Amino acid sequence: MSLLGAAEIRELAEALDLKPSKSLGQNFVIDANVCRKIVRTAGVTSSDIALEIGPGLGSLTLAMMEIAKEVIAVEIDPRLAKQLPITAAAHSEKKEPLTVINQDALTVNSLPVNPTVLVANLPYNVSVPVFLHLLEVFPTLRTGVVMVQAEVADRLAAKPNSKEYGIPSVKAAWWAEVSGAGSVSRSIFWPAPNVDSKLVSFTRRQTPGDEELRKKVFAVIDLAFAQRRKMLRSALSSMYGGSASAEAVLTAAGIDPTLRGEALDIHAFCKIAEQGLRS
Ligand code: SAM
Repeated sequence: MSLLGAAEIRELAEALDLKPSKSLGQNFVIDANVCRKIVRTAGVTSSDIALEIGPGLGSLTLAMMEIAKEVIAVEIDPRLAKQLPITAAAHSEKKEPLTVINQDALTVNSLPVNPTVLVANLPYNVSVPVFLHLLEVFPTLRTGVVMVQAEVADRLAAKPNSKEYGIPSVKAAWWAEVSGAGSVSRSIFWPAPNVDSKLVSFTRRQTPGDEELRKKVFAVIDLAFAQRRKMLRSALSSMYGGSASAEAVLTAAGIDPTLRGEALDIHAFCKIAEQGLRS
């Protein structure tokens, strides 16, 4: 399979009269080696059903089609969604199974086949909600690599007691082990973005509880980080009917009520939520 390079990306954009949209985060990868490297890092195999969000002009899609059994690509821009099967057919010697879905990834709740691996250069303005949404609705996604804005990557992979640690880090940790997988130069994009990018890899793990607990845990996380500087007993007071009762729940859960949310890992948040459900 021949992949897309800088000249072809520009030709395709010109043929479509496409002015890359900032609001849709349209920065296209123009380096085929980087695309192959991302697919390798994601550990895509010939038995995988690969899910891509925002395939754009198809740079990563073609690299995935080289290896995966099947590729499902969800693209919000109808011009790009229409063009992608044409580009794929022109670059592939055999008929590769590619399904393109023209939809906002945030509204996708089911797919024709269950995906096993996620590989995506995510649109920057919705990268965290899209990532969390996919982990939630597709439990068959066991692993993957996403490219996001560098500071978002640091937040997703952050561990407790660091300044990057916050809502995205703890919520992602409910679903998966998340870690940084390297930086990506701005020069591999057209147009070049004015922020740096990084790769984040994830491996799903067994969730610490069921949906009822997850909803409660996520509500506790949202409150704990709403005002980062507040101690947990006052940050959670609205949820438990005052800071004295919040303190009682925290103490019963074995958590020091004077700590801040940034000190707790996902398991500590689960203990609080479980205690809250009990009392
Ligand atoms: N994957 C391509 C690449 O690496 O060259 C393009 C990546 S570009 C950073 C993001 C892509 O996501 C664009 O094609 C954009 O149209 C698409 N997109 C933006 N918001 C989206 C959404 N909510 N759902 C699905 N696709 C979206």
